[in-house]
Parts: sequence; structure tokens; C-alpha cells
Amino acid sequence: TKTFQSLRSPATLPPPSQPLSITDYTLSLLRSNPTFSPATTPFLIDSATGHRLSYSDFLRQLQSLSAALVTKFPSLAKNQVALIVSPTSFHIPVLYFSLLSIGVTVSPVNPISTESELSDLVRLSNPVIAFATASVASKLPSSSFPLGTIIIDSPQFLSMLQNPRSSFGFREVKQSDTAGILYSSGTTGKIKGVELSHRNFIAITSASHQDKFVKDENAPHPVSLFPLPLFHVFGFFMLIRAASFGETLVLMERFDFENMLMAVEKYKVTYMPVSPPLVVAMAKSDVVRKYDLSSLVLIGSGGAPLGKEVAKSFTARFPNVEIVQGFGMTETGGGITGMNGPDECQRYGSAGRLAANIEAKIVDPETGEALSPMQQGELWLRGPMIMKGYVGDKEATAATLDSEGWLKTGDLGYFDSDGFLYIVDRLKELIKYKAYQVAPAELERYLQSIPQVADAAVIPYPDEAAGQIPMAYVVRRDGSNINEAEIMEIIAKQVSPYKRIRRVAFIKAIPKTPAGKILRRELVKHATASAGSK
Ligand code: AMP
Repeated sequence: TKTFQSLRSPATLPPPSQPLSITDYTLSLLRSNPTFSPATTPFLIDSATGHRLSYSDFLRQLQSLSAALVTKFPSLAKNQVALIVSPTSFHIPVLYFSLLSIGVTVSPVNPISTESELSDLVRLSNPVIAFATASVASKLPSSSFPLGTIIIDSPQFLSMLQNPRSSFGFREVKQSDTAGILYSSGTTGKIKGVELSHRNFIAITSASHQDKFVKDENAPHPVSLFPLPLFHVFGFFMLIRAASFGETLVLMERFDFENMLMAVEKYKVTYMPVSPPLVVAMAKSDVVRKYDLSSLVLIGSGGAPLGKEVAKSFTARFPNVEIVQGFGMTETGGGITGMNGPDECQRYGSAGRLAANIEAKIVDPETGEALSPMQQGELWLRGPMIMKGYVGDKEATAATLDSEGWLKTGDLGYFDSDGFLYIVDRLKELIKYKAYQVAPAELERYLQSIPQVADAAVIPYPDEAAGQIPMAYVVRRDGSNINEAEIMEIIAKQVSPYKRIRRVAFIKAIPKTPAGKILRRELVKHATASAGSK
């Protein structure tokens, strides 16, 4: 069969049977760096306050918290799930790494989720314990967690980080144990829990160590700034990656564009992983000129497509900054393509080349035939970083992972003859608003429950700043005159802000197949055609 292999040199992985948590693996990579000095290297910097946590302090907190969790919750067993609902803070990295070191599955969720969204997730992953900040804990379904809810910004939690006598904490963790359950709608509407093993994260981390840019010996000490949320796979993986390299990480509790620029100047940030809307803002916005961003060496864009023109205008403005595009999914545990060095970065519009240890196929969605370079089809991926499956959902898992281990991404694309991947479109029903996932089926459910609405469908509508916005096509019930604003407001009350419907059009009937499946492509064509005629 025609498969595309990674052109990077293969990354060496530990034997699968060796007990090893992603925490242990990360620390072993960190310690293998002979020049690394934990006492003098800051791991975390709070962008707003300048407060720092050195690697030695982090390692002490990690030891202390792991021991405290094992002592305080003797029944908290391996592979049980801890739900984490919190904005970004210093406590999140130590909490993730501690839970992972004792084999507890980390399940981070967006803290702006509504109560009903949260109870859906809880039903999926069955957490035994929750960690939440005081401000969001009240949204959690009460009494769902047998071991209770720990308030992260409480004196109790702080004391768990600072127990000087703690000595034990680490447990034997198998690589096949589940490290994370992250949420994604996959290729169809319903929300799913993506189960990722320690092995998956070990594989993706080791692959990221094959990239050249981080190994440049003359480069300044890497300082990364994460505007990314740590509950999404991109931030989750980048956190592990940064720690494995001993990088300094500037965290922003609340994202704000100008504060981000200020932090780049103040902390001499060298690297930022971002989503495409931020690249757009950096390429276009005038406030950028107010700050000295000369420390920046590299921007990594992922989570949604980055337009060729945007990448070009970014480079015109920042000629000394390499802009790397990568493709990743929650189901792949992080970015599985990337660009290595200035030549590869010039392939504007490409999502990069395959990372180490992953292979790909481009499959004709009609015939199932594997295609050649320059031919478009569905991207399939296989490798040790691909998820175990969707938790408690054998059917969705079987529909996404085939018997040979191929993950069907639901993305349409092709490889050129040099192994660069181009993503052209999405076959699956997924909208990406600023790289956040919005599932049309979820919004359609809310729309259909409005009494004045007879039928509805939701599609992605192109938007320069956000990439895509959710747009609704609505069929009014006879006699109803519900308007756009009323519909948007009803939905806004029920969903997280990024899922809001931002455009509505009325239609006589939703186009469907004889089997009743919405013909989204026709609606997308209709929407863009009527936009063009205005
Ligand atoms: P998530 O699980 O939220 O990371 O979403 C994964 C999806 O985001 C992919 O299946 C793609 O549809 C989209 N995506 C991520 N990175 C890229 C990229 N570089 N280019 C195009 N689409 C992307």
C-alpha cells in the first residue's frame, strides 16, 4: 500500500513493557541534559506578576503533592480519573505531573464550560475526584465525585505542595495506563473522551526531541510563552515538551493580546505556540509596533489551518521569526507534523512534514484506495502517539480507528512530492472558532429545542479573525417570526461563549439526503455564494 513515512530520523522509544509514567520520562529527558541547572532555571513565570518558580522548587512541589495525594486518598487508584477545572495557573503543571506520576488519569476541561456541558463530560469519564478553583467549583455537579472536590486556590492545596517531609509518592505506572482523557467531538457531533496513554505522550514527546530548532547550541535559553489553554491537547502537550527540554515557560492566566506582547518584551520570549487567529493579529495589528519583540525566534501555529497569505504577511513583518505550521488532533496527543529550519518554514500554506515515528496515508473517501502524492483524500495516521480510543464508546472508536491502527482524521488533504502535507478542507462536521472545537450537532440540538424553530442546521462560516464562526440555517415554524437576534440570544444563554451562533439565515427547508443526513456542503455553498452577492 502507499504510505507516507516520516523523513525525520526515528526517535528511540523505551521498550513498551518497561514501567514508565510520562512524568518519569519527562524528568529523565530533563536530567539527561548535562548543562541543565534546576536551581537557577525558572520553570514558570507568571506574566502578570513576574512571580517565578524554579525547576528545583517545581520538583520539590511535585514530590510533595504526589506524596500528599497518595497519603490523603489511599483509595485513589491507578487509572481512576481526576477532573481538572481551572484557568491557567502555577498549580496546573505540578498537578498534572503529580497525578500522572501516581498513575491517576488527568482529565482537564475548559473552565468556562456551562453546568450542563460539565455534567455531560462527567458522565463520560466518571471522575472520582475533582480539582477546581473556588470560582468554578460551584458549577460542578454536586456529589458526583466520591473523593470530593479539592479547591486548588485554597490553603489546603497549598499545604499539599509544601510538605517538607514527604518522601514517597511515585508509583509504578505502566506505559499502557491511561494518562489523559481530553474531550473532542471527533469526526461526528457528540462529545467524546479521548483516551491517551502514557505511551502516547512518551511517543509524541520523544518525536518532538527530533526537531532541530531546539538543539541549536548558540541559541539563547528558550523562554516560551503559552497563550494556549492547558486543557486543550496543544497546551497539554506543549507543557510536557517544554518541561522535557528544561525551558522557561511564561504563563498567562487570562489571555489578552496586548499583555501577551508586553510579556514577550519583558521576559524576552523566544518561542510562542499559538493558534492561527493570533498569527493574524500579530501580522496586522498596530499595537504590535509598541513593543520590542526582537527576542522572538519562532512561532508555532497549530490547531486550525493557517492561510498562506497570513503566513506571508507575518514573515514580511517579522523577517527574523520562523513561522512553523503543525497539524495535530486531540486523538494524536499533540502535533504530528512540523517544520524544521528556515527552508521548510518557507512552504507557506503547508502543515509541515511528518514528525518522527508517524506514518500517513491519503485515502480516497469513496473507494478506500490509498492515493499518491499530489492526490487529495482523507488523511489517515498511524503511530505510537495515536489514542487508545474514545472512553466508553466502542462504536465511535471502531469508526475512527481501523483494525490495523489507522486513525481516520476526517481531514481532507494531500502530500506533495517532498513530503509536505497540505490540509485542504474538513470532511468531518467540526467548526473551529479560534481553534476551539464547536460541534454543529450540539448547537442543532439546542436550536431544535426552541419552540418557534421547525428545523435547523449549523455550518462553519469563514471569518478572518476567528477562522470560522458557527452559522445557523433555521426553518421557522408556521406563523412564527422569531428573528436572528432572538435565536442567537437563546443559544448564548446555554453554551460556552466560543460556541455562540454568530450568524443566522432563514431557509424554507434544510437540504437532506434521503436518509435524513444534513447536506452541509450545500449549505456552505449557499452561505458563501450569498455572501459574495452582497
Ligand atoms: P483538536 O482535536 O481540537 O486539536 O482538533 C483537531 C482538528 O483541528 C484537526 O482534525 C483539523 O481539522 C484541525 N487542525 C489542526 N491543526 C491544523 C492545521 N495545521 N491545519 C489545518 N487544520 C488543522
